[in-house]
Amino acid sequence: MNKQLRGPVIAGNWKMNLSPAETEALIKETKPLVAGAKCGVVFCVPFVDLQAALEAAAGSNLKIGAQNCHWEARGAFTGEVSAAMLKEIGVEYVIVGHSERRTLFGDTNETVACRARAALDAGLTVILCVGESLEQRERDITMEVVRVQTKIALAGVSKAELARVIIAYEPVWAIGTGLTATAAQANEVNRGIRGLLAELYGQAAADSVVIQYGGSMNAANAAELVAQPDVDGGLIGGASLKAADFAAIVKAASEG
Ligand code: PEP
Repeated sequence: MNKQLRGPVIAGNWKMNLSPAETEALIKETKPLVAGAKCGVVFCVPFVDLQAALEAAAGSNLKIGAQNCHWEARGAFTGEVSAAMLKEIGVEYVIVGHSERRTLFGDTNETVACRARAALDAGLTVILCVGESLEQRERDITMEVVRVQTKIALAGVSKAELARVIIAYEPVWAIGTGLTATAAQANEVNRGIRGLLAELYGQAAADSVVIQYGGSMNAANAAELVAQPDVDGGLIGGASLKAADFAAIVKAASEG
């Protein structure tokens, strides 16, 4: 399938950055720069910024996502936010399984699967993050690790639901480090993930899934990465906090 038919998606992951007032300012600055984008454009913002982000982005092509959700709908889970709560205020996307959640906050393949399940049940689109550590890459088990992460997260996800799943391949060693996978490395893993999806759901379904790359993608390296046949855009951390840089990445994906 022609990758432009899948439609690449550039999603910014702001992590724990920007206040509601700063959110409004950055979205107002970014909106005109990405207005003509020929790719999906998403900002995944901290929970307290969601309302400001939704209001600032209203009526534009910029969609809003959260960075995590809990798997229960409600209850005694102090500090957590459910997928249904996100959906109710107008959020459309949610990141699950980001490596920072896995390494710093105890997320496992199983809890990631629960979060993805809850997000899909609530009607959200999931951005599922998978990726190997440096040690795993050096041991040459990258594809095994990424296959296990993907397979467990998608257990119980139907072919119809797969249309609301974006997979972000993010090598842990490339996130926030300034190290980027080469375009060939990114494409090789993304192609492997698509192969796994074909085993699980058939080739046609696999061909329609957006598989991003993430890890120090920036205005300078985006064009080469997003030009790869199996790289359908990116999940962008640091560079999503600067309107001009983010817009340059969106432009590269629109043209890639
Ligand atoms: C991320 O947070 O998903 C990410 C890819 O970060 P960065 O672009 O800063 O490496």
